[in-house]
Amino acid sequence: MTLTHDVLIAGAGPVGPLLACELRLAGASMLVLEKADDPHSPLKRLPFGLRGLTMPNIEVLDRHGLLDAIAAPSAAAGAAAHWANQPRRPGGHFAGIQFHLDKVDRSAWPERPPGLPSPPLAVELERVELERVELALGARAEALDAEIRRGVAVEDVEQAEDGVTVLAGDARYDAAWLVGCDGGRSVVRRAAGFTFTGTEPEFTGYSVEVELADPALLRAGRHHGPAGMYTFAPPGVIAMVEFDRGAAHRVEPITAENVGAMLRRVSGVDVVVTALRQATTWTDRAFQAGVYRRGRVLLAGDAAHIHSPLGGQGLNLGLGDAADLGWKLAATVRGDAPANLLDTYERERRPVGAAVLDWSRAQVALMRPDPGSRALATIIRDLIQTSDGASYVAGRVWRMGPA
Ligand SMILES: Cc1cc2nc3c(=O)[nH]c(=O)nc-3n(C[C@H](O)[C@H](O)[C@H](O)COP(=O)(O)OP(=O)(O)OC[C@H]3O[C@@H](n4cnc5c(N)ncnc54)[C@H](O)[C@@H]3O)c2cc1C
Repeated sequence: MTLTHDVLIAGAGPVGPLLACELRLAGASMLVLEKADDPHSPLKRLPFGLRGLTMPNIEVLDRHGLLDAIAAPSAAAGAAAHWANQPRRPGGHFAGIQFHLDKVDRSAWPERPPGLPSPPLAVELERVELERVELALGARAEALDAEIRRGVAVEDVEQAEDGVTVLAGDARYDAAWLVGCDGGRSVVRRAAGFTFTGTEPEFTGYSVEVELADPALLRAGRHHGPAGMYTFAPPGVIAMVEFDRGAAHRVEPITAENVGAMLRRVSGVDVVVTALRQATTWTDRAFQAGVYRRGRVLLAGDAAHIHSPLGGQGLNLGLGDAADLGWKLAATVRGDAPANLLDTYERERRPVGAAVLDWSRAQVALMRPDPGSRALATIIRDLIQTSDGASYVAGRVWRMGPA
């Protein structure tokens, strides 16, 4: 096999380009193949593209000199957030239950490198725009001479002893290694024979921008109702979950009528949606690959693990995978890595992924509209008001504890 690159990366979401940067910095040659022609999408911009960053990833992005490029204009981000105008500043949430910055005790957390924003300033970086993250990482990768080839969809993968071949249309690409960063419905994962198991969804989530006949009928903020939970940022940005076992996800057409019916079921309020501007659906399906490496093929990001967006961990988990894998794979390519170095990628990152899946499952359990979950949520709400409770949740959400 004639190898054209050390590493092929499938997918240029946020994870593929960060991996490309790490590989290029360590001297590996690589090529990113991306299905989409256009990196831009309204779903990656505010309000739907709102993402949070954990402290380890703020450090990684700072090392690449990207914090200024990705920091969202806070006014725009703030306007999209229902909690922006509260008298006490919230730092995040668990199952929709907010913790407040004035209760977070940071004294037990390790020191961070000087010059880095630390909470509460870092909380500004809790509100970044996915498109800006992707574009900044893509530009950085290209500045490091990484090529991102757009409009190329990986269709199949063949492994040999000395390399791996990617098939895309009529083209074949041969490299020593392939990393699937091609998202939750990863073709690489399926084609290379990885198992992917976990728990099926309990709900369908909707992120929508709508016009309402009478917006005053709905209260701003986060609320529970008879069939689920919703968050309303007037005049028309709504995130809601309905406990329907994921039945509506990618099945029901997303129409104004359909979104209105769901909103009435979830809120118990007789609102009418008159127009639907944008909409996307998601679920709490929580699945993880059984291994992160099969021969010369590895997985990172959503290709390796999917879960609900509750608590904003998916992007962070994926960036953490890329930061961990990049230098190890580059050292393996160079031939100066100990024999088992690459195995430590799965050993270190798979348990972190499993913990995040459980963190998201625990939130789902607390959000169910049944009396037991509502009673438990009342107790958790009280605990999160304490300094210990707020510090524990903040530490998990921001990953402020020992790395
Ligand atoms: C509503 C919502 C809110 C969220 N909020 C947060 C949050 O606040 N914080 C957080 O950390 N995470 C959040 N997430 C999760 C986060 O966005 C994802 O975990 C993250 O984008 C995953 O990055 P990725 O690069 O692994 O995959 P993706 O972003 O899915 O990128 C995969 C890329 O691969 C490409 N691709 C797919 N198939 C192929 C193929 N066959 N060949 C070539 N290319 C291919 C795709 O076009 C895409 O560009 C949220 C997710 C949703 C849905």
